[in-house]
Amino acid sequence: GASLRLDRLLANLGYGSRREIGLLARAGLIVLDGAPLRASDRRIAVTPDLSDRMTVDGEPLDPPPGLTLMLHKPLGVTCSHKEAGPLVYGLLPERWRRRDPALSSVGRLDKETSGLLLLTDDGALLHRIIAPRASVAKRYQVTLDRPLRGDEAERFASGTLMLEGEDKPLLPAEMQAHDATHAAVTLHEGRYHQVRRMFAALGNHVTALHRDRVGGLALPEDLAAGSYRILRSHDLAAIF
Ligand code: URA
Repeated sequence: GASLRLDRLLANLGYGSRREIGLLARAGLIVLDGAPLRASDRRIAVTPDLSDRMTVDGEPLDPPPGLTLMLHKPLGVTCSHKEAGPLVYGLLPERWRRRDPALSSVGRLDKETSGLLLLTDDGALLHRIIAPRASVAKRYQVTLDRPLRGDEAERFASGTLMLEGEDKPLLPAEMQAHDATHAAVTLHEGRYHQVRRMFAALGNHVTALHRDRVGGLALPEDLAAGSYRILRSHDLAAIF
C-alpha cells in the first residue's frame, strides 16, 4: 500500500504544518506501536489500522485517508458551500475539515431534508455511488400536504414522468403508500429536488422528507440527528 512521510501524513490529516509536526515528533508526542517517532521524515505505511497503532499527544490518530462515514443529516444544514446556512462539515470534528484529500458528501440532500448522508474522501467510491449508471437505490420517507390520489405509484413507475423544465423523463421509481399522506419513494437517480418535484408534478406538496436508505445501507435507529459513524468495509459492501 501507500507510504508517506510522517509529517506529510499528519499535515494531510489537518494536524498542522510539516514544521509543527516536526516539533510534535521531536517532543516525543507521536507514538507508533508504543515507541515515540522522533524523526518526522520517517516513511509510514498507510494502513486502515494505523489509528489503532499511532497516537498523537495521547489520542488515537484520526482515521487515515480512505475514510467514509454516514451522517444523520439534521434539517437546516446544507451540503453545498453555495447555499446559505451551516454546512454538514461543521458537524464533524474541526480538524477533519482540513483533511487532504477532503471529505465530500456523496450526492446531496436539500437543506430541508434529513437523513442518511454518506461522506467520503475516496473519489472512486464516490463515483461508484453517484455515477448515473451506478443505480444505487435511495429511499425517502415522504410526508405530503394533501392525500394521495391513488395513481402516484403507477405514474412514478412508468418511466414517462416529466419534471417541470426538463426534457428527459424520470427513470422508473417505486412508491409505497403508508397512509393517505405518508409514503416511501425509492429512486435510482438523483435530480435536483427530485422527490419534491415528482409530487409537485402530480399536484401535491412535500412537507417533510427524510432519507433512510442508500443501497443496502439503512440509517441506524440509534444514530441521532447530527451524529455520524465511520463505516467499515462490511458497511461499504452493503451499499452495492
Ligand atoms: N429529493 C428531494 O427533493 N430532496 C432531497 O434532498 C433528496 C431527494
